[in-house]
Amino acid sequence: MDRYWSRLTRKLDPYVPGEQPEDGSYIKLNTNENPYGPSPKVLEAVRQAVGENLKLYPDPTCDAFISAVAVRYGVKKEQVFAGNGSDEVLAFSFMAFFDPDRTIVFPEITYSFYPVYALLSGLAYETVPLDSGFDIRPELMRSSGGVVFANPNAPTGRALPLSAIRNILDGNPDAVVIVDEAYTDFGGESAVGLIDEYPNLLVVHTFSKSRALAGMRIGLAFGDSGLIRALERVKNSFNSYTLDRLAMTAGIAALEDEEYYRGVTRKIIETREWFTAELRKRDFSVPDSSTNFVFASHRHLRAEDLYLRLKENRILVRYFKKPLIDNHLRISIGTDEEMRTFIEVLDRILGGADIP
Ligand SMILES: *Cc1c(COP(=O)(O)O)cnc(C)c1O
Repeated sequence: MDRYWSRLTRKLDPYVPGEQPEDGSYIKLNTNENPYGPSPKVLEAVRQAVGENLKLYPDPTCDAFISAVAVRYGVKKEQVFAGNGSDEVLAFSFMAFFDPDRTIVFPEITYSFYPVYALLSGLAYETVPLDSGFDIRPELMRSSGGVVFANPNAPTGRALPLSAIRNILDGNPDAVVIVDEAYTDFGGESAVGLIDEYPNLLVVHTFSKSRALAGMRIGLAFGDSGLIRALERVKNSFNSYTLDRLAMTAGIAALEDEEYYRGVTRKIIETREWFTAELRKRDFSVPDSSTNFVFASHRHLRAEDLYLRLKENRILVRYFKKPLIDNHLRISIGTDEEMRTFIEVLDRILGGADIP
């Protein structure tokens, strides 16, 4: 009963995750998971790690994992933070870098967790309009309190070039700029290479999308060692063991099988290009995507109706009943077979035939 709730709890407006049915009867294109699954070497490493050792706490500094990340990305260990999914890394970042008396900004269309974290941390925020092609306008992303955005952005799928990221960093020397690169492997330009140049840049990555480990909850942040120390202070005020033994094992093994992940990513990009063209042939407006999903709007059919019709046909996509995007669907890129089935079902829906 809310009589026992704290004032903070009463004020919260929690994120609503995409539906997660566990019965396997849906084609799941609603949470941007990777349809191909982790590398076989990752699965084997995790199997090997299941044992007596699980009675022991994991390494609270995540040293072995962070060392592997540093080598793979060509950065120093002191420039890397690891957390239980990038959602946790982002939540810690809002607490570590932003203050209640200084308004932070993010794009008016972006990852809907950002306003949730702002509320949790008692922060004021403003949103910045996108241009008519759904692109972030770098020159408007200015705040002395803090700047947060995803690049490529979600759910639009649109990416900014590094020159635009530099514009945002140069325009906000007094504030931390958080670039959430959850989808960068699918066609973005990563800003990790800029962390030596910009002490106010924090780049956040996840193993949930291109590395197919959403179930393991692994997130990273890259930045100046001063920013990383701030994140460690926040983390160690919460829970010293955010990454468990199996997650760290999986993370290290994933970093060792780049070839597998590059292949899977290439495949998803090919499928995305084919699928985008098929949607456009069917009267959808679809901005070019640099991610593992597309953001699509049909000229006549309402997005909410289409979402429901697809669901009746055991296909889940993401529909956000929110201003500016409530006539769009975010459709994750699955396997070729899943996307062909999607198009077949779509044709039946558009043709008005009896379903299924
Ligand atoms: C999926 C996603 C995340 C969350 O990733 P986790 O590591 O699974 O918590 C963060 N930011 C954006 C923009 C995402 O789409």
